[in-house]
Amino acid sequence: MNIAIAGAGLVGRVVALNLLRVYDDLTITFFEKDSKEGVSAAGFTAAGMLAPYAELETAESAIFELGHRSIALWPDLLKQIGLFDGYQQKGTVITAHPQDMGELTHFIGMLQRKVDAAASIEEVDSQDIKALEPDLVAHQRGFFIPSEGVVDAQRFMAFSANYFDRNEGVLFREYTPVEKLEPGRVYTKEGVESFDWVFDARGLGAKEHFDDLRGVRGEVMWVEANDIDIGRPTRLMHPRYKLYIVPRGNGCEGIDLEYCKACKLSQTSGYKRYIIGATEIESEDLSPISIRSSMELLSALYTVHPNFGEARVVNTETNCRPAFRDNLPRIENEKGLTRINGLYRHGYLLSPAIVEKALDEGIFLNGT
Ligand SMILES: Cc1cc2nc3c(=O)[nH]c(=O)nc-3n(C[C@H](O)[C@H](O)[C@H](O)COP(=O)(O)OP(=O)(O)OC[C@H]3O[C@@H](n4cnc5c(N)ncnc54)[C@H](O)[C@@H]3O)c2cc1C
Repeated sequence: MNIAIAGAGLVGRVVALNLLRVYDDLTITFFEKDSKEGVSAAGFTAAGMLAPYAELETAESAIFELGHRSIALWPDLLKQIGLFDGYQQKGTVITAHPQDMGELTHFIGMLQRKVDAAASIEEVDSQDIKALEPDLVAHQRGFFIPSEGVVDAQRFMAFSANYFDRNEGVLFREYTPVEKLEPGRVYTKEGVESFDWVFDARGLGAKEHFDDLRGVRGEVMWVEANDIDIGRPTRLMHPRYKLYIVPRGNGCEGIDLEYCKACKLSQTSGYKRYIIGATEIESEDLSPISIRSSMELLSALYTVHPNFGEARVVNTETNCRPAFRDNLPRIENEKGLTRINGLYRHGYLLSPAIVEKALDEGIFLNGT
């Protein structure tokens, strides 16, 4: 089988990993408009949270089911690329300041009305919070969602790039934008090429086909702190801007230097790093983070713990989440062509399960 994948972002990589696991007589050609490291993909900007409960506020229960399936699938995908410490399932802490506690209680009640499983969300007091996250002891009340996890998104992108490099069956056509796709055909500036099957994983770059695809701008900041230690994703419920803090260890362990040259993050410093995010703005503007977003994210962060006041901002990132009008993912399957798109703010939460569904829908496996 001779396969083409247009777009080497999150979905394209997960498609390739699934195919390589099942078939050993496969050639995969990635067509990527940028570099193989994928640093311009939304999949590189993402915090990588696997938060089916916390996402229920804006999502449907189908997302919840698919999210749980993905949580079960991620560990094997990460092992496949040799990333053994890139997955964590220690749950999520959600807290709020006393004046906003009503908002948080309302939010949890809404989740519990949406899915029965949300009954497992535990209300926690300051002693419970201290046991989970000693540095957050000042928070009097909150909630704990035990089953949520996180993927180290940036290391997933780096380790998968290395894995594909080592695999003789995978070819990378970097800086080769795809202009159009048809069943079994890829159109680039260089001409038309034929394949047994084509996957469209271009995210926001697939607008030539999907006329209802839009980008939703998201901004994140990376901060480095020496004197605060938070071990699991933590959310702050706030009436105007919701904040998450996702710990990223102390750097980019295991990422080789060649990759680091392409990556915008500075080298390991030994301090703890956190991703702070994320804004959600109806715009496809990819320009750098605004002053307003920076102020909102950082002032909310400072209220979580004053020691964040001495943290250093080491990076900022802006990207757009590919989304349809209903904010739900979409699979289109026809003989010779599979399109997967619209993963919106749930790409890490959904991609293993959505890709599995797309492949299982039968046309790819049974129709050839
Ligand atoms: C700030 C932010 C935070 C996020 N946090 C989370 C999170 O915590 N948890 C979660 O589950 N999700 C999160 N997401 C969402 C997740 O990143 C996306 O849903 C996911 O990356 C979408 O995957 P994709 O492969 O469709 O698109 P992308 O990852 O953007 O990949 C598309 C790829 O296609 C390439 N491409 C585009 N056009 C062409 C073309 N014409 N020819 C060839 N190649 C092309 C691009 O260069 C890119 O490499 C976040 C997103 C953002 C922006």
